[in-house]
Amino acid sequence: MTQYVYRFGGGVSDGGKGDRNLLGGKGANLAEMASIGLPVPPGFTISTDFCAVYYDEGGQFPQALRDEVATGLAHIESVTGKTFGNPADPLLVSVRSGARASMPGMMDTVLNLGLNDETVEGLANTSEDARFAWDSYRRFIQMYADVVLELDHGAFEEALEIAKEDQGFTLDTELSADDLKALVAEYKGLVEKQWGKPFPQDVHDQLWGAVGAVFGSWQSERAKVYRRLNDIPGGWGTAVNIQAMVFGNMGDTSATGVAFTRDPSKGDRAYYGEFLINAQGEDVVAGIRTPQYLTKTAREDAGAKPASMEEAMPEVYGQLADVFDTLENHYRDMQDIEFTVEKTKLWMLQTRSGKRTAKAALKIAVDMANEGLITREEAILRIDPMALDQLLHPTLDPKAHRDVLTKGLPASPGAASGSVVFDADTAEKKAADGVAVILVRTETSPEDIHGMHAAKGILTARGGMTSHAAVVARGMGRPCVSGAGTLSIDAKAKIMRCGGREVKEGDLLTIDGTTGEVMIGAVATVQPELSGDFATLMVWADEVRRLKVRANAETPEDCRVAREFGAEGVGLCRTEHMFFESSRITNVRQMILATDEKGRRVALEKLLPEQRKDFTEILEVMAGLPVTIRLLDPPLHEFLPHEEAEFAEVATAAGIDVDTLKRRAAELHEFNPMLGHRGCRLGVTYPEIYEMQARAIFEAAVDVAEKSGAAPIPEVMIPLVATRRELELMKAVVDKAAQAVFAEKGRTIEYLVGTMIELPRAALRAGDIAEVGEFFSFGTNDLTQTTLGVSRDDASRFLGAYVEQGIYAKDPFVSIDVEGVGELIEIAAERGRQTRPAIKLGICGEHGGDPASIAFCEKVGLDYVSASPYRVPIARLAAAQAALSKK
Ligand code: ADP
Ligand code: MG
Ligand code: MG
Repeated sequence: MTQYVYRFGGGVSDGGKGDRNLLGGKGANLAEMASIGLPVPPGFTISTDFCAVYYDEGGQFPQALRDEVATGLAHIESVTGKTFGNPADPLLVSVRSGARASMPGMMDTVLNLGLNDETVEGLANTSEDARFAWDSYRRFIQMYADVVLELDHGAFEEALEIAKEDQGFTLDTELSADDLKALVAEYKGLVEKQWGKPFPQDVHDQLWGAVGAVFGSWQSERAKVYRRLNDIPGGWGTAVNIQAMVFGNMGDTSATGVAFTRDPSKGDRAYYGEFLINAQGEDVVAGIRTPQYLTKTAREDAGAKPASMEEAMPEVYGQLADVFDTLENHYRDMQDIEFTVEKTKLWMLQTRSGKRTAKAALKIAVDMANEGLITREEAILRIDPMALDQLLHPTLDPKAHRDVLTKGLPASPGAASGSVVFDADTAEKKAADGVAVILVRTETSPEDIHGMHAAKGILTARGGMTSHAAVVARGMGRPCVSGAGTLSIDAKAKIMRCGGREVKEGDLLTIDGTTGEVMIGAVATVQPELSGDFATLMVWADEVRRLKVRANAETPEDCRVAREFGAEGVGLCRTEHMFFESSRITNVRQMILATDEKGRRVALEKLLPEQRKDFTEILEVMAGLPVTIRLLDPPLHEFLPHEEAEFAEVATAAGIDVDTLKRRAAELHEFNPMLGHRGCRLGVTYPEIYEMQARAIFEAAVDVAEKSGAAPIPEVMIPLVATRRELELMKAVVDKAAQAVFAEKGRTIEYLVGTMIELPRAALRAGDIAEVGEFFSFGTNDLTQTTLGVSRDDASRFLGAYVEQGIYAKDPFVSIDVEGVGELIEIAAERGRQTRPAIKLGICGEHGGDPASIAFCEKVGLDYVSASPYRVPIARLAAAQAALSKK
């Protein structure tokens, strides 16, 4: 029989070293902390395996599980000496969800479970604190009603507010035992009214209700959205943790807190955290009262008055600091910790690897390697390449004018500008229309996740550095300013006010998550650079990677950025955008609409000097490095005039009448342009186009070689080749142009002619194509379209459903479909190499910047990947990781 329940604490540890697949992250780490001797309240975990059983059984609990849970409860009872449901001295537990990966969207934790009208009296007696007992009971009902019964929590909060207002109180802690008792009565009334049944008094019913709610929440909409955004498989399931309560709300020697063993924002080696005296559970992160700092230094740096934990509870703080060090040494990583102090006794309630900004991740990895805690290779493997994206985007120009509206906490670094929205749905809608938005909320909750994801930045009026907004924003890499307390936000009216000024929905706002500043308007930004820990890690990565990294770049500016980020060449320089420039589009149109070769040549003659200038600038920037230039690829009709005036202009330039032109334009119409007259088919039918482009390339290359000394290495790439013969014809055109230019200039340079492999036929016939082609560049965007028979531009209607239902594991346009497209690449690489062992192989699709696809390229043994300039560092790191993982 399968075992579903694993006990921990009190010297027992069924989960041993903590298997997170089985126990979920939270359960595994509770078991592990207990097993290394840290103070963990006893409890047990119902494994993730049961999650699937729960759904199979239609939400029922088999007797076998009930028996195991009884054993688990008996364990807690024997360690604590209390009994579940005992009116004299009741055991209370928390019920906590816990998937393998920490997951907002899951059921929130229920605390103080086991209280009812009888046990609350027992708790009051044994604790000699009626206020505490009734406070715990009212919290329990409120949480249970919200997360298990899913009743409207607004009514409960309102009742609490009114109870305080009636007495002129501002804090929950001011309410007396009798106030709380009255509130409990009111809460029970609210439950009965909304739920139609009285609040469950049977503690076992309470327990199973909560357990069912946790398993049920695995399939909640919120959880599904989160899984989709984070590539978490639905099959993983969640675990449920049931654990003896410890109380941070037993007066001034009790407290609850959250901490990181290092600064998760900057990465500094300093304990970092917040705590609240006489409080429970989520009080710290919920922004109910302003939490106090953990360390004296942090308090002083912030200029805050209330004593830090280091000052207020020096002894417990000392124990906590020891625990931090034990945990870091044990897990060899920065930890995110939850703890509670019950009457000066420290209890550990959670530890996990802490979420951090990319900047902190780099600093922590480099520091830990230098401290000897981890190796350099581990440091390289620790950084999520995609997270570097955060550091590769512009930051606020220090010289730009800032109209500062207010200042909040610097919760997640980076700067963002956008138009203000006050709710998550609007954020998502506007972002889908391509509008950059800043999501402004009083505070955020898991319901806002989709809007936070869609927003460029997040601003909240409430909540500290560990608030929901701050933690989630850091995880997503979104800049965030939290706790900007001077903002008064009216989300319904879509307006916020601050210091006599108003900001409405749609107004432009800039936030700087590094300083906490909130500014009116869009503030100018500056380019990032690779320096400090980032540069160090890149050097380490370059030492281990085998794949070269190039950039997809088609302007001198792109090339410059790419070189600064360490690109070792250009893997794809498209030439079509050059044709669109306003100064030449008329000539391009004249060329396309010409009815014969002579007419085309007249227009091409005018384009040649312009095109040469394009290549000269690019080759200058990339001097000494290979540059793959793709000859014209898109269907000609993309360049056609639309407006009357445009037709008239071309007619004048070409000396043809407008009607003839229009007829010619109509002839160019295609039913399926993606599979139409494009790529090398243009070169086969109109070789003079490729001839002009090749001439421009070689003239430019010879000029640059002469001037700079470091000769560029052009690699002329023929697109959309399916057969050897096409490439042979096109190579002859290119070679002829090269010979002509070399003869004219009296100087030769090195160059290659090769092809994109972007049609299945080309992949299969790679053996003969390699007889002609000197390199292959896998154009995986088109290769994916042509292999799957899916148009990328139309895929959005159904691809989501395909990924959701596991037909494709990931969006195949983002991450290579290894089984299909990948096999074609392997075949082409193998057959190409058989013919021409030294053939150069690279990839230039969007996939060249995707870490999983890069790992695939390493496996197949390609020579290089090519990614967009801002992704070059990501690709360098991913290539290093791929090389290390292969070892
Ligand atoms: P989350 O995954 O949202 O962090 P947790 O299960 O960690 O949810 O719990 C929420 C809060 O309740 C945390 O502050 C946690 O420390 C506290 N908590 C959970 N279980 C207990 C317990 N047994 N005793 C005291 N506090 C608890
Ligand atoms: Mg929570
Ligand atoms: Mg927690």
